[in-house]
Amino acid sequence: MISTASDTTTSRPASPRSSHRRKSVLIVGAGPGGLAAAMMLAKAGLDVHVVERLPHVGGRCSAIEERGFRFDLGPTFFLYPKVLERIFKLVGRDLRTEVPMVRLDPQYRIAFGGGGELNCTPDVAKLEAEVAKLSPADAPNVKRFLDDNRVKMEKFRPCLERPFSGWKDIVRWQLMKLFPTLKPWRSLDSELGRYFKDERVRLAFSFQSKYLGMSPFNCPSLFSILSFLEYEYGVWHPYGGCSAVSEGMGRVAREMGVRFSLGEEVKEVLFDGRKAVGVRTQTGEHRADALVINADFAHAMTKLVPDALRRKWTDAKIAKKKFS
Ligand SMILES: Cc1cc2nc3c(=O)[nH]c(=O)nc-3n(C[C@H](O)[C@H](O)[C@H](O)COP(=O)(O)OP(=O)(O)OC[C@H]3O[C@@H](n4cnc5c(N)ncnc54)[C@H](O)[C@@H]3O)c2cc1C
Repeated sequence: MISTASDTTTSRPASPRSSHRRKSVLIVGAGPGGLAAAMMLAKAGLDVHVVERLPHVGGRCSAIEERGFRFDLGPTFFLYPKVLERIFKLVGRDLRTEVPMVRLDPQYRIAFGGGGELNCTPDVAKLEAEVAKLSPADAPNVKRFLDDNRVKMEKFRPCLERPFSGWKDIVRWQLMKLFPTLKPWRSLDSELGRYFKDERVRLAFSFQSKYLGMSPFNCPSLFSILSFLEYEYGVWHPYGGCSAVSEGMGRVAREMGVRFSLGEEVKEVLFDGRKAVGVRTQTGEHRADALVINADFAHAMTKLVPDALRRKWTDAKIAKKKFS
């Protein structure tokens, strides 16, 4: 959520003094989303202050250490580095230098309860041979599956890179035109049935929908792009674990002048009328021209923003929603 200071910039004439003052922004939460926002807003010249409840950065993508052992709290492997590469590049850094990582081959090994296993390698010829061990008839379709999804991804990419903030975005003509390719009426499992007869092979290319909390038997066929992305762009292991990504982002943000208040929980968002102007934590108040909330939407809305100030996302409406 972002609340901009556009009211102040458009309606109030800037005084000579204020025109030189750097705009300030407060970011609640130092998860990967908050850290990316911090890097980019600092690059844009803003005075950035991040307030984080935990004593470290990274949120769900952080680690705990105990007696010399280090455990990632969330992600086990890192996918689609292109997005973070772009963010690091935007701030003049190189992701691979800041966060060294290695591409995994095999990406993972799947052992099936019903028997058999699959070494999931990005080397297509070897992958075909692996699939042939489970189901010879399915092996020649591996390449067709990857090729078709490459086309699907390219067609869908412009839509993926746009915000989806309401129904109007979903029924936009650009997206409607893609329906014959995306086949939203078809489930992921039934889409995979066009390529693979063996249930185990279908599972190997569809379990990725669980990353998004969805079942391959219910979720739309569009999500076949998830397994494609793994094979096309790699499954990566950042040295030190996935938390190394968040730590690298935090380090770069600090070097760019971003201030961090760790171990400080935001208890309330402060308002001037309907405009968010700061936050109250257990130790005091922080004010800024704009606010970015990186905490979970439903949590932040119901706990930090008074119900009366919310037009659309009231407590009653949020209570009716299902979470993935
Ligand atoms: C078990 C598990 C496995 C996962 N596996 C993968 C994977 O393999 N690959 C992958 O790409 N992703 C994976 N994810 C998802 C990934 O961790 C999240 O998508 C990512 O961390 C989300 O980043 P975020 O910045 O949006 O939110 P978060 O990481 O949730 O960060 C939100 C931050 O806000 C802080 N915060 C909340 N409330 C307040 C408050 N009131 N005051 C101050 N601070 C506050 C929190 O402490 C937290 O640091 C996994 C997640 C989990 C839990």
